Amino acid sequence: RAGTAAPRLADLPLRPELAGEEPYGAPQLDVPVCLNVNENPYPPGEQVVADAAAAVAAAMRGLNRYPERDALALRADLAGYLGHGLTADHVWAANGSNEVMLHVLQAFGGPGRSVLSFAPTYSMYPEYARDTHTRFVTHPRRDDFTLDVDGCLAAIADQRPDVVLVASPNNPTGTAVGLDVVTAICRAAPGVVVVDEAYHEFARPGTPSALELLPEFGRLAVSRTMSKAFAFAGGRLGYLAAAPAFVDALRIVRLPYHLSAVTQAVARVALAHAREMLAQVAALRAARDDLAGWLRGRGHEVADSDANFVLFGRFADRHAVWQGLLDRGVLIRETGPDGWLRVSAGTPAEMEAFKTALTEVLDASA
Ligand code: PMP
Repeated sequence: RAGTAAPRLADLPLRPELAGEEPYGAPQLDVPVCLNVNENPYPPGEQVVADAAAAVAAAMRGLNRYPERDALALRADLAGYLGHGLTADHVWAANGSNEVMLHVLQAFGGPGRSVLSFAPTYSMYPEYARDTHTRFVTHPRRDDFTLDVDGCLAAIADQRPDVVLVASPNNPTGTAVGLDVVTAICRAAPGVVVVDEAYHEFARPGTPSALELLPEFGRLAVSRTMSKAFAFAGGRLGYLAAAPAFVDALRIVRLPYHLSAVTQAVARVALAHAREMLAQVAALRAARDDLAGWLRGRGHEVADSDANFVLFGRFADRHAVWQGLLDRGVLIRETGPDGWLRVSAGTPAEMEAFKTALTEVLDASA
């Protein structure tokens, strides 16, 4: 009986592994201070806005046609931004790096295959696995959230994963992974390795990127996004660099015309203004370090962070702290291991509001 009107979700013949699942996402609440999803708090400048508006107008005039399916001009611009001698055919792009990594799992995961990551880590990884019928396995990080190479290699030998996903800097901990560790993982992994560098631009200056290892490892891919440092979260543009054959594999699973003409046009404008889009990165790094120092000064545990957020704790009742902050107009993220909370680096005013609110919440409960 397909025709029952207005069924409840439970009445629908959902795949069993999706029963009871919630759509992923932090609460999107209308509060004065949003420090919950690691955005860049500084909006694009007026010149970028004007240029993007003109580019959208031009794209609109051809919007009766499908967009350029391979987004070659945009991929060439992204390759130029990355440097390292990369060209358009080394670069893949999609609607956020979430979609990029879903493509990786669609191409290299699947039934009977597995993906290995290092917990705690980005909570979308198990969702890419679930949605592609790939088995998700984790190996734990050390107490300080760094990776122990020997343990990682043992996990690889044990699981023989088809895909290894390593976030560096990691979310929600902020932990960067050294290239020596990435190299060891690449040597040991029987399948493909993805280093998710969503937060790379926030790493301490001089931190090398896994892009340096691409010439050595044909099964390595480095994922990036314009959502964080690039202040383009609403534009939805993520990308990846790898050997051209790796990119060809992703082209097989992408939907045709997955990147709209508007997305391509606006992302190209943003890239043409890269310096301006990235202008606040140094300030955000400083805000992160100040935040970590302030939290430590108040006696909290703080994970070393190379990203634009800080994981801190530990609280017997972290939800009460999260709620207390929200009651004071400050939204942070209840994520990571039990007892910890994550807060994004923001503007000076946002950081002041967070510090004031946290002090009040903890004084009130003392
Ligand atoms: N990787 C990591 C580690 C992230 O934290 C995020 C965003 N929270 C993403 C990937 C995905 O970002 P986007 O889809 O906006 O590129």
